[in-house]
Amino acid sequence: MATNVDYGALNLEKTNALESAIAQFNSAADHLGIDQGIRDYLTKCKRELTVHFPVRKDDGTTDVYTGYRIHHNEARGPVKGGLRFHPDVDLDEVRALAMWMTWKCAVVNLPYGGAKGGVAVDPKTLSLRELETLTRRFATEISSLIGPAKDVPAPDMGTNPQIMAWIMDTYSMHHGYTVSGVVTGKPVSVGGSMGREEATGKGLFYVIQDTMKARNTPLEGRTVAVQGFGNVGSVVARYLAGAGAKVIGLTDVSGGIYNANGLDIEALWSYKKDRRPLTDANQGDEIGNSDLLELPVDILVPAAIEGQLRGDNADRVQAKIIVEGANGPTTPAADAIFNERGILVVPDIIANAGGVIVSYFEWVQDLQSFFWEHNEVDTKLHRLITTAYEAVVARSLQDKITLREAAMAVAVAKVVEAINIRGIYP
Ligand code: GLU
Repeated sequence: MATNVDYGALNLEKTNALESAIAQFNSAADHLGIDQGIRDYLTKCKRELTVHFPVRKDDGTTDVYTGYRIHHNEARGPVKGGLRFHPDVDLDEVRALAMWMTWKCAVVNLPYGGAKGGVAVDPKTLSLRELETLTRRFATEISSLIGPAKDVPAPDMGTNPQIMAWIMDTYSMHHGYTVSGVVTGKPVSVGGSMGREEATGKGLFYVIQDTMKARNTPLEGRTVAVQGFGNVGSVVARYLAGAGAKVIGLTDVSGGIYNANGLDIEALWSYKKDRRPLTDANQGDEIGNSDLLELPVDILVPAAIEGQLRGDNADRVQAKIIVEGANGPTTPAADAIFNERGILVVPDIIANAGGVIVSYFEWVQDLQSFFWEHNEVDTKLHRLITTAYEAVVARSLQDKITLREAAMAVAVAKVVEAINIRGIYP
């Protein structure tokens, strides 16, 4: 299997996420018969802030970083979406991710619009002090946009609860009192919610369970490949293995591993916790990224980054079901091929919505200063994501469209309804 060992989890050829997001929107707009003015409005982002800011490094030199915070649409409420720290972050990527947040919040019925932000940086190259300094300076640079009533950031790739705590603290210092509801995904000790860290992976697991139930197929014994072993991939792999599924392939930034008899996810989980490369675990053959995406599995979970399944590799994908843990992992060209080949794609905006759902719960708890028990969070997450997913499946059957088209149709209709009911100001 060790062909084409392109170490690192990612297919590095850069695709334009914004083109994909706009194409997906246009196809929903066609289906819904949306007029040109609203299309023009929703294919742009309402507010876009680019900042360039200096950070003093440990060696006394100064580096300048570029960051973004972008609001796509706020018709349904304050805007919501993560902050990504990754070297490839750029304006178009953040725009696409902000658009996807609008649809994601709408499809699962959260009272939010969509936003996204990020800094073009590899956080692994920074010391802890440098990371804190960069985070606090970036939070200050975007502080005119964020706030619990208007824009609530959260973790995404390369950011974590500690970084959210620094942002909360920075914003609170500016205001002179603690404002815990300004970000979600915080540690529980400073206003975070029980269950937030595992929420995206857990939501994904619930959606997979529902998909298998609808197909009358038990999860037990099904084979799975997971691209990415971060906050999403590692959690869903663990739940799937716990339910008796066989995770036979995995990749993360350090490389990929394959074992036809199933990988020991609990052992790999401790490798991840100790920040050791998965390939050191000696659990199977090393595989490359393209090997992983093309494994003959029942379920493929791309849980890394956008643009992984494209027109140039979709023909070789052998999975029966693809469940999108990442945002935008499948391009429209790949979607068309999967549809033709009868491969079911459960789209990102519903499949990975567990994270923002529990972010919403966290924000509600912060605003009320009243905190819920873990099982209450979990029960509500399960109910919310399942209900939303059932509505998407029903729409897809009713209109004879793919799950992505159905999810987008449901979401876009809700946003357009909010725009129309509010009216165009003034
Ligand atoms: N970054 C996550 C996402 O893409 C979570 C966003 C949030 O919780 O606001 O859905």
